[in-house]
Amino acid sequence: MLHLNNIDKSYGSVARPVRALRGVSLSIAEGEFGAILGPSGSGKSTLLNIIGLLERPDRGRLRFGDVDVENASREERARLRNRLLGFVFQSFQLLPRLTAWQNVALPLLYRGAARRDRRAPALAMLERVGLADRAEHFPNELSGGQRQRVALARALIGAPRLVLADEPTGSLDSVSACEAMDLLRALNRRLGVTMLIVTHDRDLAERCDRRIEILDGRIVSDTGGL
Ligand code: ADP
Ligand code: MG
Repeated sequence: MLHLNNIDKSYGSVARPVRALRGVSLSIAEGEFGAILGPSGSGKSTLLNIIGLLERPDRGRLRFGDVDVENASREERARLRNRLLGFVFQSFQLLPRLTAWQNVALPLLYRGAARRDRRAPALAMLERVGLADRAEHFPNELSGGQRQRVALARALIGAPRLVLADEPTGSLDSVSACEAMDLLRALNRRLGVTMLIVTHDRDLAERCDRRIEILDGRIVSDTGGL
């Protein structure tokens, strides 16, 4: 479903570039449950942001199915992002003045759905992540693990083909982190949604089928893929 070919990305000045990605090539198949593993500063977030169409590579090709993304306009990229992708972040990124279900329903609001067409799917998605009884709670009334489940429900409500999670367990204790990974896995199986999860935690990466290891902007190992 996704192909990267020889992707380069640098930051900083031309005189003193920081080479975040160097010649990264990678294919992700439909339904995969993969970890992107590597130490801090190795280029994991840069890779995820390029796949997520949040940043553009300096060089190389990125294709979703048969859509060549580097030739796509800004609007096309935004449309692809909305239609194909769901995002989960370490910091949850929930809006504090909205209840759990309202946070989950935000992508539907951005698509212009009326309130009556947002609430039922949001409640159904909260149920899938085991939070049906917290629908009317605000984020500050929820534990870290519960907040991350709300964020996951929000990532999934638009029926994305690919969920990108950047250190989704990074601010959770180890028990909640394992639970969150198990939930991601269950949703990967049940909904058939492809997932790429960035982590620097080797034990959590072991829970994924595939492990793509990155060091200094290069893929140094890739095991367990389809
Ligand atoms: P990771 O997520 O593995 O910790 P990143 O992809 O965030 O790594 O960063 C890879 C390298 O690129 C690091 O050296 C980082 O400092 C640098 N970098 C990332 N984003 C930026 C940016 N917006 N501006 C300048 N340098 C950046
Ligand atoms: Mg990072």
